[in-house]
Amino acid sequence: MMPDIKANIDAVKKEITRMCKHVGVAENQPRLVAVSKVQPIERVHAALDAGQRVFGENRVQEAEERWGALKPDYPDVELHLIGSLQTNKAANAVALFDVIQSVDRVKLAKALATEMDKQGKQIPIYLQVNTGREDQKGGVQAEDLEALLTECRTLGHNVVGLMCIPPAGDDPTLHFGLLKKFAKRHGLERLSMGMSGDYALAASMGATDVRVGTAIFGARDYS
Ligand SMILES: *Cc1c(COP(=O)(O)O)cnc(C)c1O
Repeated sequence: MMPDIKANIDAVKKEITRMCKHVGVAENQPRLVAVSKVQPIERVHAALDAGQRVFGENRVQEAEERWGALKPDYPDVELHLIGSLQTNKAANAVALFDVIQSVDRVKLAKALATEMDKQGKQIPIYLQVNTGREDQKGGVQAEDLEALLTECRTLGHNVVGLMCIPPAGDDPTLHFGLLKKFAKRHGLERLSMGMSGDYALAASMGATDVRVGTAIFGARDYS
């Protein structure tokens, strides 16, 4: 059965508001990025019908298949790439996405800059930080962040913020705190942190974007 997507979106927003009020940052509520990866298209339509306009996808090809047809009908949709990106997909990513949250290496930053030039687009980017130092995860290591940021700025990128995905099982507080510290140090305004299990915590710690999939759309069916 299809979950009540509108009710879920409302509940997530209400919880964000409650938490932000609770810690005294009611005026700084994060934007809700609805992570629609793997979800059936009816659920995406239900979110659109509920007025949701900011979506996150983690694979370029899947996003193209889905949003290539949908986006022209919803010109106000803002699509965020939140998954790892191969340089050979940079052209496709630049063509489709409005924000790229997962820039984590110089080679990719270069490929994206070249493509943005070619396509005459300037897409805001976030640098993904591997705060948990996990081998299997994307993200720049903390000690390499400054060099990557400098390189991105030299390339002309509009670097707006940082993104992290804390290791499963870790207390996300430490990772969110670290990301916030890095952003402050480098004068970056946006902080993309918090998923279904910890978006309220992230909101209370200064997230400007929370990326929520399951709590809105229900569990993903990978079968
Ligand atoms: C899938 C995904 C999410 C959403 O996860 P949920 O736990 O379903 O909310 C958030 N961020 C990234 C980078 C993801 O890949």
